[in-house]
This record gives sequence, structure tokens and C-alpha cells, in this order.
Amino acid sequence: MTNRTVTRILDHKCELGECPVWDELRRRLVWVDILQGNIHEWYVDDQSHVVTKFPIKIGSFALTDSSLLIAASSIGFVTLDLVGNRVVALDDPEHDLPNNRFNDGKCDPKGRFWAGTMDEVNGVQGAGALYRLDPNGKSAKEIPNVTCSNGLVWSQDSKTMYYIDSYDQNVKAYDYDLAEGKIANGRTVIEIPREDGIPDGMTSDGEGMLWIALWGGGKVVRYDPRYGRKLDEISLPVSQVTSCVFGGANFNDLFITTASVGLSKEEILTQPHAGSLFMARNVCNGGKPASRWQSERS
Ligand code: ZN
Repeated sequence: MTNRTVTRILDHKCELGECPVWDELRRRLVWVDILQGNIHEWYVDDQSHVVTKFPIKIGSFALTDSSLLIAASSIGFVTLDLVGNRVVALDDPEHDLPNNRFNDGKCDPKGRFWAGTMDEVNGVQGAGALYRLDPNGKSAKEIPNVTCSNGLVWSQDSKTMYYIDSYDQNVKAYDYDLAEGKIANGRTVIEIPREDGIPDGMTSDGEGMLWIALWGGGKVVRYDPRYGRKLDEISLPVSQVTSCVFGGANFNDLFITTASVGLSKEEILTQPHAGSLFMARNVCNGGKPASRWQSERS
């Protein structure tokens, strides 16, 4: 295990920072403060920080080829226009479940957007699901009975999808049919000990290893999904670590989002930077560009 230092990138503290996405074209890190409905952009070249507020909770999003983002929100799948500050509703598969909202999401290598839900009011076990949004703007339920839908990663050969339902304390793998966007043969490949924290968002590096943020665990851990073995970890000065992504010029800087929600007043005093965006430099053979949403109309 290496002892790496993390840097806090800017002063802003999110309530529930999540879904860090590196945009290699505009050299910016984009992330969301879910409960505030804020999309954050941090531009590496001039260090500028832009916040765009929307009147909905935004669980996750992905880049597109335009200035729009595709997002999963408290009103279902939407597009967000950061320039005109506009929300356009697409499909809302859980409009009949008012306690549910969308949480983490990501595009598969073909640009389909996958995102899942959770009961954010009572945390009812199995109340959520994982959905796939197709280019025509229609969604399909792919995994039912999810409790807290979180991290998604596709393997480098696109043949495997990795998925975290935080409640299960594990990472599951599914065979992935890239042509159809279908999953099969779900099995557990990594078990996270409860005392290490709760698995949340994740990303992968150039060697196909998974980097998993541990909520309540104050760290990001690197696992080999072939053997379920822990290889490395990066500690943070805050406990609520939510997600991570590789970015920077060589895709080897790890950006890490965190949260302050759920902490007591006493904990906030000992974790004054809870909710900040952190970065660990030159972590390893880095990741790859994020897949972008491919709409039928674009
Ligand atoms: Zn999450």
C-alpha cells in the first residue's frame, strides 16, 4: 500500500458531491451536488469554478457531444443545458414512486446512459432499480430490487459491467452484450468489509482495476475484480467519500468527490473539508475518456 497525499482543489464544500466526470475536450472536471441540484465545473487551465443551479435533485449525469448533459434526477431522465439553464424531461420510469430518486449513473461504451434509483426518504430495502436509457430517450428496467444504486464501470473489452448496490457491501459483475445493451449472469466479485466503509461510486484504471469510494470509510480503495483482492488505498481527511474518476492530461490524476451530509456538528468540526473536491496526482496507469451519451437526435 502506498501512502499518497491528496490535495483539496478548491474551497467550495458540497452537501453531497458526486459523479465526477473528466471532460478531456474542455479540460474540466464536472461533478454534481445532488441535493442542491448544482452542477459544478472546474477548469484546470484557469482554475475557474462555475456552478449552475437546477430546480431538481440531480443524482448523476454524463457528457454529450454538445453543451447538454444527460442526467438522472428526481424527475427521471432529463437533459440539462448549462448555457441556457434549461431542463428538458425525457422518461420518468418511477413517477409513481415519490420517495424514490435517481442516484449514480454512467454511459456504457456505446453511449447508452445507465442509472439507478433509491428510496431517499425511508431507505426501503429493494425499493429501487437500475435502468438503461436508450438513444431514443426511452428507458428499460434492467435490475429490480435495488436498495441504493451506485457505482458503474465497464471493462476495457466492454464484455463486463461492474455494479454496486451499496446495501449489498459488494461489487457485482455481469456479462455485457454491448450490441444490445443487455446484462446476464450476475455474480459477486468483490466483498467490501463493513468496517472499511460502504461502497459508493467507482471507476477503473488502465490495468482494469477498480477504484471504489468508501462512504463512511474515508478512503478510496483499489481492487482487482478477477480475484476480489484489495491492492491499494488512498486515505482522505474526510469520512464521506462518494466517488472518483481519472482525469488530467494523462488520465492519471484521481479526482475524488466527498460529502458533508450525515455528519454531526462534532464530526464537521473534526472534518472541516467534508464536501470538498480532492485530487491525488499521478496515481497509476490512468483511466480513459468518459463515454458520452449518444442521442438519436444528435
Ligand atoms: Zn453514490
